[in-house]
Amino acid sequence: MAKTEDVKFSVLVSLFNWIQKTKPPAKKRSKFRKFLDTYCESTDYFTAVRLILPSLDRERGSYGLKEHVLATYLVDALGMSKDSQDAIRLKNWRKDGGANNAGNFPMVAAEVLQRRQGMISGGLTIKELNDLLDLLASGENRAEKIVVLSTLIKKTNAQEMKWIIMIILKDLKLGISEKSIFHEFHPDAEDLFNVTCDLKLVCEKLRDRRQRHKRQDIEVGKAVRPQLAMRVGDAHAAWKKLHGKEVVVECKFDGDRIQIHKNGADVHYFSRNYLDHSEYGHAMSTIFAQNILVDRCILDGEMLVWDTSLNRFAEFGSNQEIAKAAREGLASDRQLCYVAFDILYVRDTSIIHQSLKERHELLRKVVKPLKGRLEILVPNGGLNTHRTPGEPCWSLIAHNVDDVEKFFKETIENRDEGIVLKDLGSKWEPSDRSGKWLKLKPDYVRCGSDLDVLIIGGYYGSGRRGGEVAQFLVALAESSASKAYPRRFISFCRVGTGLSDEELDAVVTKLKPYFRKYEYPKKAPPTFYQVTNNSKERPDVWIESPEISLILSITSDIRTIRSEVFAAPYSLRFPRIDKVRYDKPWHECLDVQSFVELVHSSNGT
Ligand code: ATP
Repeated sequence: MAKTEDVKFSVLVSLFNWIQKTKPPAKKRSKFRKFLDTYCESTDYFTAVRLILPSLDRERGSYGLKEHVLATYLVDALGMSKDSQDAIRLKNWRKDGGANNAGNFPMVAAEVLQRRQGMISGGLTIKELNDLLDLLASGENRAEKIVVLSTLIKKTNAQEMKWIIMIILKDLKLGISEKSIFHEFHPDAEDLFNVTCDLKLVCEKLRDRRQRHKRQDIEVGKAVRPQLAMRVGDAHAAWKKLHGKEVVVECKFDGDRIQIHKNGADVHYFSRNYLDHSEYGHAMSTIFAQNILVDRCILDGEMLVWDTSLNRFAEFGSNQEIAKAAREGLASDRQLCYVAFDILYVRDTSIIHQSLKERHELLRKVVKPLKGRLEILVPNGGLNTHRTPGEPCWSLIAHNVDDVEKFFKETIENRDEGIVLKDLGSKWEPSDRSGKWLKLKPDYVRCGSDLDVLIIGGYYGSGRRGGEVAQFLVALAESSASKAYPRRFISFCRVGTGLSDEELDAVVTKLKPYFRKYEYPKKAPPTFYQVTNNSKERPDVWIESPEISLILSITSDIRTIRSEVFAAPYSLRFPRIDKVRYDKPWHECLDVQSFVELVHSSNGT
């Protein structure tokens, strides 16, 4: 057999095409097996498997290329003029630029490439492709990445390049689950991946399908796939599900799930996607060195930001900014704070098989909390000891459903994300979402009254709704003392969910004649809309004038967020359209002042 690395990428492309168009899962799996047996040496499965499961490959860093950036790089790599029709198609891939393929970037790119590359394969091997992808990930700037892309284009045809783009975007849409691929590769592959998050190691260790692998435990330094929570509708459903168990209820903190792997002075910060967020090190490593009382351990928890002036956790979303400020030595009222809610490993022993109750005891012994920097979440201890009177508690043992309801109510009042219920007798299981942990969230609770807002713009969707407006930019009316109709509308938030397909179609059809495109080079928005310069806010189309637009009633998670993206002072965290108010005229839109009062009254300030 030839070497795996010499296999032509075109062979893999045939496999991808075949798997994609074949329906029965068993056939898809057996074709994958046949490919492994025919083309891959058992000593080197990884070279091929990493291209089949690109989202699990951690050997090369991130490419830093999402569709939008990739589009502009491809324009340069193909030497196209920025104003050419194809360049505009690529940039407008979500909209009508993509024509039939609108919303599907690899397909739009394939159309454009077809006209330039033709059908003949360039003979690229799997090894060459991996080497070039390494270069693409390590390329430090735009120019270096464009050189790699143009080399790839020279060595492939349009079909091959389309699949390479999908590999770069880490989504092959093959219609076969990662679970099935793992299972076909080796019956123990998924288990081993769950405790190591290391695809290379899985490919190297499990070469022989017939030889079973002894179940491996977790190790310090290797990310573990996190235990997850199952969603439940209300406190009663949660209580029923955990019937007869000893239950702890905890606040669901709204930060980044991070596993701390401490091995002496060496600390890793693994995220949910198994990436090592070493940028947290500057702010946290000394604290972990001093306040974790053992040399080796794994903690599971949430990285958050603590506001020292307000004496509370800051809103979601500022972790990176605060980590950067700490690196640059900038003074701030806000600091990173790690809340450990579990412990998985102590010294040289994995403790995931012990009960949560036992793990809580170990957490108390191993971690010395430091207010606002390192906290532990255990019942009747940890964060609770820092609680000022009157503040809700963060974790308690629930004896009945009323305890759960009361805790949930306090969470809502405190504007936290929700609660997690855990079976205190359960072990910690990688990647498990079978119901040992349950989450209950106060989503879409009305903000006291309906928020009736005006549609001022639209965003094109992707996938199924590619080429059609699928989300709206909505606005509040500018407040005025007089009873006159509002003259200006202030951008407020972006909302897409809540309506059925038919309802959404009806709104889009009604407004379509008044869509005004926002094209390159940028046109200013209509003057009666007040917006920011933030590019995340920019809709693809504006509504020509407020008088012909529609009012939407929206609901949201009870929490509002201070807005940097939109022109109004606050925005909504998880907005959702409740209904279209065809009955309400445009000028009865909620005004900014009334909204701010609503926010303040629901905050109790
Ligand atoms: P969500 O968007 O609701 O966070 P998810 O899919 O990211 O959902 P889930 O498994 O559903 O994750 O919910 C668990 C997540 O909640 C964890 O990944 C963690 O980031 C977060 N979390 C916050 N507080 C806790 C807690 N006390 N115990 C467990 N997880 C918590």
